[in-house]
Amino acid sequence: MALKKSSTFPRRTRGRNKLVLLFLIAVVLPSSVLIVLTWHMIGQEQELYQKRLADERRRMAKEIGQKLLVRLEEIKLREVSAAASSTTFLNTLRYTSREVILVGLADGERLLLPWEINQAHHRLSHISSDTAFTEKIRRAEEEEFIQGQLTRANTLYLKCIEETQQPDRQAYARLLRARVLSKLDQVDESLTEYRKVLTVNSEITDEHGVPLCLYAAGCLLERNDSYEEVLQLILSELNAQRWLSPAESYTVRDLVNVLIKLGSQPGVRQQVAEDCQQKILEYIRRQEQALALQKDFQDLTLIAQKKGPEQEPDATWIPYGEESWLVSLAPALPGRQRLAIVVQGDRILDPIVANTPDSKMILAKARLTTDAGLDGVSLGSSFPGLKLAYKVEDKAPLLGEWSLRRSFYLIALFLVLCVTLFGAYFLWRDVGRELQMAEMRSQFIASVSHELKTPLTAVRMFAESLRLGRPADSQAKAEYLDTIVNESHRLTRLLNNVLDFSKIERGERTYRKERTSLSEIVRAAAQAMQYPLTQQGFHLKVNVADDLPDIQADRDAIEQAILNLLSNAMKYSGESRQIDLRVQKSDGCAVIEVSDQGVGIDPAQQKQIFERFYRVPSEENRRIPGTGLGLALVFHIAKAHGGHVEVRSLLGQGSTFSVYLPLENEQ
Ligand code: ADP
Repeated sequence: MALKKSSTFPRRTRGRNKLVLLFLIAVVLPSSVLIVLTWHMIGQEQELYQKRLADERRRMAKEIGQKLLVRLEEIKLREVSAAASSTTFLNTLRYTSREVILVGLADGERLLLPWEINQAHHRLSHISSDTAFTEKIRRAEEEEFIQGQLTRANTLYLKCIEETQQPDRQAYARLLRARVLSKLDQVDESLTEYRKVLTVNSEITDEHGVPLCLYAAGCLLERNDSYEEVLQLILSELNAQRWLSPAESYTVRDLVNVLIKLGSQPGVRQQVAEDCQQKILEYIRRQEQALALQKDFQDLTLIAQKKGPEQEPDATWIPYGEESWLVSLAPALPGRQRLAIVVQGDRILDPIVANTPDSKMILAKARLTTDAGLDGVSLGSSFPGLKLAYKVEDKAPLLGEWSLRRSFYLIALFLVLCVTLFGAYFLWRDVGRELQMAEMRSQFIASVSHELKTPLTAVRMFAESLRLGRPADSQAKAEYLDTIVNESHRLTRLLNNVLDFSKIERGERTYRKERTSLSEIVRAAAQAMQYPLTQQGFHLKVNVADDLPDIQADRDAIEQAILNLLSNAMKYSGESRQIDLRVQKSDGCAVIEVSDQGVGIDPAQQKQIFERFYRVPSEENRRIPGTGLGLALVFHIAKAHGGHVEVRSLLGQGSTFSVYLPLENEQ
């Protein structure tokens, strides 16, 4: 047995290895090549797509760049003509286009900012030109600060106020008088003066460009007075639509801060103050960037000059600052300084991008940038250093086409793989079956040889003993002869099985059906097995129903089937020695049942035991001789008679095989 095992194992492994190799060559290798090729193709397509997308982006950037330039030049032209028709336009916040941030003057290489241009009119420097007035003020200040004569100073300031008709001088003198009054603890009078200054025109400023009314406002807030009026003043300053000077804007910011700090006081409108704060901070941020631009202006113009001679220098827009400001110089008009125009690029860009077909998809989130680290496309020589940045993972229209193609490739690959795997599954299954069958066949030959040898040896041994005249007594002789007959029967049964099987395999097995009594067949089979049963100590209980009609059947075949079942019952009975053979009628069928109380069959194996050559692969079974043909023949015989065979079995508790033969056949 050990020898048999060790020889089957390598054969089985070899067979399996062959199968795996075949599978690898026929299925895995071509599939892998296919996958690699498809992947490669997808990669190439993707590269191509990226290239096309980049080309498309460049084309679009060029188009947008041109539109941008046209729009910017249009804005420039409008500002120039506005400047030509008005003189006061420069210190305004109201430009011809919403996108313009500021318009300054290019004074040589210096940039004059709006608030620097026409501020001078209202400065107190004028005051100093009136020497009589200044002299009075100087004297009053001397009394106030050097002599400490506050009352005298007050009188002098009052005189100044009364003697001048100029509102700016009056306001200035009032401011000084209010200061002295507050020093004199004449709070009410002092507040009255401050309130008066609060109402004067905000164009009356000191030499730093800070309106006097703002000074008054600061002093009033310090004394917790006129919150509402100060807020009104701030609002009117912010809505004045003119540029505030830096000093003025910082003063406004400080006043707003004070107002917000005083938020809980009655009369302070917190929300309005907060809005003002936001507005002034935004304003200051812009103003500071304008101041920075002023500093860098020289370098910017240099950039413009560096451009080639064929380039019209006026049509150059230079990016500046974080907010995508674009700066350009207007063409010089005779007798005038050139205008420097600053616009907010993104504000112009957005509608242009929105109106360029497909641009939204190809350049999602497009914006102007000078950041070299960002993905973007250069906008051409009119915008040195400026790029059109866009989001990378955008949904481009080409992407739709590409993803359609990619899906097609992937689906095709998937289908091919499915078909291949489907075929591979059948290949694997069929080749596996063939291998199993080949193995079972070779096992079968070994089993048949073994099974033939055993009875033949017994027959020869007993026959030779008889020929030599041994044993002497007649009872023993009879036993020898019985054994010889029994073994010959066993041999015949075995050979019948093999021959029948080979006929079945070739499709030549025919059944000679005739009207016959089933009970007779059953009894004959029991009789035939009587000797081996008694020999091995079995007790066979035969139970045949009385009402069994004759049936149309091949007598030998049915007997063969019963003999096979009985012989199995003996082989697989284990320690048990009880076998039942019953024949009865049930549902129009004659049922032949053979039961034992032996080893039983695992439910998982119960279907396969009827297959040819199949033997339950248990250790216990290996020791029992068998060919795996017995039940396959029972199955075939039952089927040939229009019936079927069933098994009921529990491991360790025995099995019952039932052959159903339809009784209609009897007619
Ligand atoms: P074998 O020559 O091996 O008996 P069979 O076709 O008659 O071939 O039976 C197939 C397998 O079914 C056997 O190897 C055995 O494992 C199982 N078998 C058949 N009859 C019984 C039974 N009465 N009790 C338990 N197992 C059985």
